[in-house]
Amino acid sequence: MTVDLQTLRIDGIYRQNDNNDLMLRIKIPGGLLSPVQAEAIAALSERFSNQLLHLTSRGSIELHWLRPENVEEVGRQLAAVGLTSRGACGGAVRGISCSTTVAPGFSVAQGLARRLHRHFSGNPHFEGLPKKFKISVDAGYSGARHLIQDAGIVHVGTAESGELFDLWVAGGLGREPQPAFLFAEQLGEGQLLALLEAIIHLYRQHTPAGKRLKHLLREIGEERFRELLATASPEVVLQPSRGIGLKLKVEAEERVLEARIFAGQVSSSDFRQLADLARRYGNEQLLVTADQNLLLFPAGPAATLCLRQELAQLGFAGERRDEQVNFRICPGNHECRMGLAPTRVVARKILDILPAAALDLTFAICGCPNSCSQPQLADVGIVTTARRAEGEGERQPRFALYRRSGAGFGTATATELTEEDLLAQLSRIA
Ligand code: SF4
Repeated sequence: MTVDLQTLRIDGIYRQNDNNDLMLRIKIPGGLLSPVQAEAIAALSERFSNQLLHLTSRGSIELHWLRPENVEEVGRQLAAVGLTSRGACGGAVRGISCSTTVAPGFSVAQGLARRLHRHFSGNPHFEGLPKKFKISVDAGYSGARHLIQDAGIVHVGTAESGELFDLWVAGGLGREPQPAFLFAEQLGEGQLLALLEAIIHLYRQHTPAGKRLKHLLREIGEERFRELLATASPEVVLQPSRGIGLKLKVEAEERVLEARIFAGQVSSSDFRQLADLARRYGNEQLLVTADQNLLLFPAGPAATLCLRQELAQLGFAGERRDEQVNFRICPGNHECRMGLAPTRVVARKILDILPAAALDLTFAICGCPNSCSQPQLADVGIVTTARRAEGEGERQPRFALYRRSGAGFGTATATELTEEDLLAQLSRIA
């Protein structure tokens, strides 16, 4: 079967290898999904994939090893439960992430993330962009994920006129990390949407194909960027519909339970069981977190106790070291053709040698400099930078080690580390 990779990309599909095995990324607006949607994804994984789901650090879910002849059916099944992969790859507004897990203002951020998803997803006015355009909505500044977005929105309070948001623009990681800059403060939702549309319009008009918004900013500078934006005329200005549907309401923070999932990889059968628990004890919602875990929201104190016991029985109680350590992991060369290292294998080796004093740190490893697991935002970040030959042997990965202490990005403290060097450094980490 001939595979038109360019066309597939905009439908959220990348080729994994020369055999045309495919990865399909499902947009989960704000990371929130219902048990019905979760079961539909599990069923697709069982029928067309390898019974394993990958939860991403943007709250999306990936299916791997799909065959080209099945992608249309997968798309139909997703649409039947109100989900889409449209725009999850390629030059489009990507899935809207909502990184802050549970904090004051989280419900506001979640609601806006879902409205933005409805506004931008599958809308041809926001496709055909030079490259990806990433938007996040956060309930506050902890985690600093606003710094790595093309448009990072942060809820900062409530006024008589409504909710207020700061807007950060033109950030990104990858080979040339660049923190976003604060574009405007205390915007209302209507102003925010008009600005987002104008920024996307400007990005389309002034940026070469294959480049992110951060490239345009580097080329023209902040002053010119603002000037151009003042004269940009968006093609459409639509008000987001509020509508009904999934809406996350967290009654109390203590009524949130987390299923810790190592490396964001969960079997379809476990995913089904978690969906069933959300239905029996919770508010019929599951949330994919930015740390690649799943949150459930028990309906009351009694349900909290039952749910905690059930999670323990299923092995999601956070008792093992791989559940205790906050470790974001991209698929690496297990499933990604860009991958230079087996990220999950390396992560397990790291967990084995970490001193007890380091277990509270956050970790992230990525399989190439694209930085999908956001290593520059972890206390300890590991980036696979190359594979190098050693004598006659097979080429082996080299790693850069990042440490983060302030509010910005972590910086590289060591480069060109072999796996042995990396493990030796991390065994001494404080
Ligand atoms: S960081 Fe690289 S290896 Fe990892 S998922 Fe992204 S592109 Fe693939």
